[in-house]
Amino acid sequence: MKQNQQDHPPTGPLPNPLPSLTASEGCSRPQKVCLCPFLPLHPLHISTHLYIIQHPAEESKVLRTVPLLAACLPQDKCKVKIGRRFSEERDPELSNVCRKSDTLILYPGAEAANLEEFILDSPTYPSTIIIIDGTWSQAKDIFYKNSLFRLPKQVQLKTSISSQYVIRTQPTNRCLSTLECAAAALSILEKNNYIQETLLRPLQALCSFQLQHGAQIRLSKEHLLKNGLYPKPMPKNKRKLRKMELLMNSVKI
Ligand SMILES: [Zn+2]
Repeated sequence: MKQNQQDHPPTGPLPNPLPSLTASEGCSRPQKVCLCPFLPLHPLHISTHLYIIQHPAEESKVLRTVPLLAACLPQDKCKVKIGRRFSEERDPELSNVCRKSDTLILYPGAEAANLEEFILDSPTYPSTIIIIDGTWSQAKDIFYKNSLFRLPKQVQLKTSISSQYVIRTQPTNRCLSTLECAAAALSILEKNNYIQETLLRPLQALCSFQLQHGAQIRLSKEHLLKNGLYPKPMPKNKRKLRKMELLMNSVKI
């Protein structure tokens, strides 16, 4: 889940990866922007099962991080489910996973336990973690409109790392891409920081590749607002204006 509050802006000046007829088998990216040299030679050994619930709109984005994540992990440990609605009938496998007492869902909120603290006193060690991949509003819709996702224990990351994923605008400096969330969560669950380093390597390469090819660093909206650089006129809508004020005051929204 990306903690993104609104839809991603159009890619604008970003160079789309040059169209290529063949996609790289390793990273699923066009050959010319293949990131395979930055992927681990062998999938990482992990015992945690990761389920990515991907909003359908996320699948078509040019800059998406889930294929990179999947390319670093064993196939049987990383499953991507695409859709908005999931039910017992439509997805019995996922429904079983959600009902297991050692499954977690990563979704921030007042109810969510801090993952690092949670594993210290959890009677059963978590075997599975579910992460929602989409913008903030898409993730919210998926989380609240599927009762299945409220069965697992809800956890969140209390981490000081700020996003390295600078190409897309992130609404606040605390926002992490799905790949970064998964990297942080897996390294906590597996108690192995190497996992995080390895998973972030292709993302760093992707960002520096995009930057070298003319993409501007997209500073977070929070940064732009605070520094008076926000390019759009302030909204007239009161609710939106209130949201902006909250952002400016760094209140968690
Ligand atoms: Zn590749």
